[in-house]
This record gives sequence, structure tokens and C-alpha cells, in this order.
Amino acid sequence: MTASPATSSSFDYDAIVIGAGLSGMYQLYRLRELGMRVRVFEAGTNVGGTWYWNRYPGARFDSESYSYGYSFSRELLEEWEWSEHFAGQPETLRYCNYVVDKFDLRRDIQFSSRVIAAVYEEETRSWNVTLEDGGHFRSRFLITAIGPLSTPTLPRIEGRDAFEGKSFHTARWPHEPVDFAGKRVAVIGTGATGVQTIQTIAAEVGHLTVFQRTPNWCAPLHNGKIDADTQSKIKAAYPEMFRRCQETFACFIHTPDPRRAFEVSDAEREAFYEKLYSERGFGIWQGNFRDILIDRKANATISEFVARKIRQRVKDQNVAQKLIPKNHGFGTRRLPLETFYYEVYNRDNVELVDITETPIERITPEGIKTSTREYEFDIIIYATGFDAITGSFDKIDLRGVDGARLKDRWKSGPQTYLGVMVDGFPNMTMLMGPHTALGNIPRSIEYSVDWVTGLIQFARDSGLTRLEATPAGVESWTDHVKDLGVGLLSSEVNSWMTGINSNVEGKQTRIVARYSGSAPAYRERCDAVAANGYQELALG
Ligand SMILES: Cc1cc2nc3c(=O)[nH]c(=O)nc-3n(C[C@H](O)[C@H](O)[C@H](O)COP(=O)(O)OP(=O)(O)OC[C@H]3O[C@@H](n4cnc5c(N)ncnc54)[C@H](O)[C@@H]3O)c2cc1C
Repeated sequence: MTASPATSSSFDYDAIVIGAGLSGMYQLYRLRELGMRVRVFEAGTNVGGTWYWNRYPGARFDSESYSYGYSFSRELLEEWEWSEHFAGQPETLRYCNYVVDKFDLRRDIQFSSRVIAAVYEEETRSWNVTLEDGGHFRSRFLITAIGPLSTPTLPRIEGRDAFEGKSFHTARWPHEPVDFAGKRVAVIGTGATGVQTIQTIAAEVGHLTVFQRTPNWCAPLHNGKIDADTQSKIKAAYPEMFRRCQETFACFIHTPDPRRAFEVSDAEREAFYEKLYSERGFGIWQGNFRDILIDRKANATISEFVARKIRQRVKDQNVAQKLIPKNHGFGTRRLPLETFYYEVYNRDNVELVDITETPIERITPEGIKTSTREYEFDIIIYATGFDAITGSFDKIDLRGVDGARLKDRWKSGPQTYLGVMVDGFPNMTMLMGPHTALGNIPRSIEYSVDWVTGLIQFARDSGLTRLEATPAGVESWTDHVKDLGVGLLSSEVNSWMTGINSNVEGKQTRIVARYSGSAPAYRERCDAVAANGYQELALG
């Protein structure tokens, strides 16, 4: 049988997008421009994705606010004013709502609608999507915008449900304020989220106990308000700033220093590190010597520098020692940026428990029992992160040709074409899925959405109804992504970027979950595919 054209009215929609974070919102905007009938299904009750769910105290950007916002609308850039260099979550959520209302996107977004299954049907060349409430919808195209960090994980600790106080995962934070005054609070986890939470609540709580398994290297955020003069300078410089983001390795405004760490004298290196440590944002990570993330000795110089800073900032040297990472070098995991985080441990009401020394045995009705002590708490905060990159895919029963499950296909690690498609899953494209360039993510989102939109427009204009990556294309891209990971110090470290999560079954073996090449190289490759009329795909 001949399948109907891409705009077929026999389906509920031309395209279904799963997720209404920054990816889903922009994808809706672009497909609507093509005049397509689009439906976005979102599990939450509002837009914003990351910024909708992560309402924990102190949640904020590590990207400069103005480099994070959408760049596609000059009008939006003129209208919106970020109040801080690194905006807090409430402001970013307001921004998302502003965007969705400005472009009248809300009417095509269906909230409280979790997609639990999506099955490809060859006969009609369409996707059949099932919602948790039993609703079924059919569309030609399926676009996943389900987030690289959107499926939270809780630690596998016995007795978690027995706790009689309040407990929260940071990514499932209540919408109402949580009263910490005078409370005995535990935070489990010291990744980027744990760091933001700890530094924000320490002064408010009665007593805070931080349970740390792996300390992370942190560097100062140096946030600040944006005054009127700076605001107008930022606006005037938008075109130049976004151009710079296009050129940098990971789309941040920070450009790596062209020198190697040992090309300069010890004194110069020290002065350079001091400068980076005193500057805003990810400069110390993304704007450092070009070899610190590939050369062990170069990396040791910055690790030693930051370790010294920790020792200077934390009064009790036993505590300082515990806060210094031993199993990975600076910047080889996602770098948390902090605001007086280390000084928190100088407070009388804060205690650090190293659970590699005294493991947590179980959660009790009153609190937490380690191998040496029982602690009583009113509130336990799980800052235990996400089942990253593939976690949200695993939660959906995604089936392609002949009912093949994506989860099975990716059992030994993701396999993708450009991080956007998978052979055997025709007409499905992924935004910010595995093997894409992440970095300063909205910059990557805008590129990927534009690329996917171009592909769909091409299909429509050419009367195509079936777009599929080829097995050879998938193999080649997957090999390429694996090759790019070779020689990076981050590839030798357990982290969400290498697919490790001790709290998720089956995620104990390292995989290559993300594209670690440069964003310009990624775009160049994808642009070439489009320029060549998508001939690398199986088109039908
Ligand atoms: C605390 C925190 C801080 C961050 N800070 C930065 C930063 O400073 N800079 C940066 O570049 N990145 C940052 N990130 C990464 C951030 O995730 C991205 O910047 C960006 O928001 C991703 O947008 P997205 O739309 O792709 O995914 P998300 O924002 O995660 O949105 C995905 C949406 O899909 C929905 N969804 C998932 N599965 C389903 C389903 N089955 N059915 C229906 N809906 C579903 C989710 O509910 C969610 O709303 C941060 C992440 C976190 C968690």
C-alpha cells in the first residue's frame, strides 16, 4: 500500500512531541511555522522541563543567563531582562512561561500527560502514542524532547519508605515552600544540585548533616545582579555573543586558552588559575589551558590548585581533606559552581559524613543509620541526581519496526545516527538524546530543532512519508562518538556522562552516552547531511 503524505489528515496530528522543556517548546514553535498540526504531551502541569521540576532551594544556572536563553527571536531578546548573571530557577521558569505565552504555544501542549508507549506502525508509516491515562494518538512523526536530565533516581537504601519525617528528591520538589527553620535536615548527595541546596539552606536549618559519597571539584560561581547599564550592553552584544557560542567547543561563552599548561612558567600558571578562580562561571573549566582535560599532568596542576583553595577555605583540615576529590581530576565530571559552599562546613550547625568511611546502612523511621551512628532528622533531601541521557527513554515502551524495543536495542549502550535517529525507528527523531552535542544546552537545542525541522520540511516538500537512519549510518556515527571519547580523562571516570548510576540496575558499566567532540564539528557534519539532500537516510 502507498502511505499517505506527511500532512495526512487521517492521523490525529502531523507530529507528536514528547516533553515541553526548552526543546519541546521550540520544536512546537518551528513546526507550527511549517503549518503542521502538532501536539506536545508533557508529564508536568506546566512548561519549563528542568526549570519546572527542579524547585529545590538555590536551583540556578551555571550557564550565564543571557547565553542560555533562546536566540531565535530578536524581539524576545529585546523584551526579556535577566536580573542576574546566573538566574535562579523561579526566574527561568517565569522566562519559559513568558516564551510560551508570547508565541501562543500553550494551546498545543497537553499537560499532565505522560507518554508511556509509542509504537511504530509500518502499514500507515505512523506512530501510535499511548498516554498514562489511556489516551491514544497517532501521528506521522514522533519527536522526543524528554530531557537528558529528567528522570530522577533515588538511592537504593533499605527502609526509605519507613522514614516518618518529610523527604524530597530535589527534582520533585513541592510547589509550596518548605519550612527549614530549626529543622534537623539531611542532604544525601554532593553533585551540582546537592552543592546548590546545601549552600542555600545551611543558614536556615537548625542542623544540617551532609552525606557525601563522592566529593566533586567545585569552583566559585561569582553571581551578581545585572544593572541597567550592563543590561543594555548585554542586549547590544547579543549577536556577537551568540556568534561566539557557535564557535566555542561546547557553546559556552568561554573559549579555551590556546596554551598548554606546561608552556608557561609555574608563576604564570598560578596567576592564570587565580584569575580564572576569581571570574564568573565556567571559565575555569571551559576557558582553561587546552590540555587540562586530556593530559593527566596538566590536569594535576589545576586539581592541586583547587585542592589548595579548599584547604584554605575550610577551617577543619580533616573536613577539607574529605571535600577534596581523590578519584577524579578537576573538570572530568560535570563541574558544580558554588557560592560559599566550602564555608558552609565552617558553621557549627553543619556536619559532613563521608559514607565511604561510614556507609549508610538504612533509613529508619527517625532518620539515617550509618555503620557507626544513628541520626535523627525532620527532613531528608535526596540530591541523588538522574538516570541521565537514556533514563527517560527507558521509561517509555518505545517500539520500532516489527515491535523491536529501543530499550533492548540500547542494552549495551545507545546507538544512534547523529544522536538524532535510530535505524528501525522510522520517523522518530530525538532532541538532546544520547550522542548529541550538549554543552550550553539551549544552543544545541536550537541547532537540533532547526535540523529536525529542516528534515521534516524536506520530507513534506518531497512527498516522503518514511525517514529512517540506515544501519551503516548508525554504526558509523556510534563508532565516531566512541572514538571521540578515547583519550579524554572524563572517559576514565564514573559519572552520568559515562552512563554510570549505582542506583539504577544495569547502569554499572561505562558506556559512551554523549558526543564529546566540538559543537562546531557536530554542526558541520549535520549540515553536510542536509546539504546533501539527506541521502544518508533511507527515504521513502
Ligand atoms: C538543576 C539543573 C540545572 C541545570 N543547569 C543548566 C545550565 O546552567 N546550563 C545548561 O546548559 N544546562 C543546564 N541543565 C540541563 C538542562 O536539562 C537543559 O539546559 C535543558 O533544560 C534541557 O531541556 P529539554 O527540553 O531538552 O529537557 P527538559 O528540560 O528535561 O524537559 C523534558 C521534559 O520532558 C518531559 N517528559 C519526559 N518524559 C516524558 C514522558 N514520557 N511523557 C511526557 N513528558 C515527558 C519532562 O516532564 C520534562 O518536562 C541543568 C539541569 C538541571 C537538572
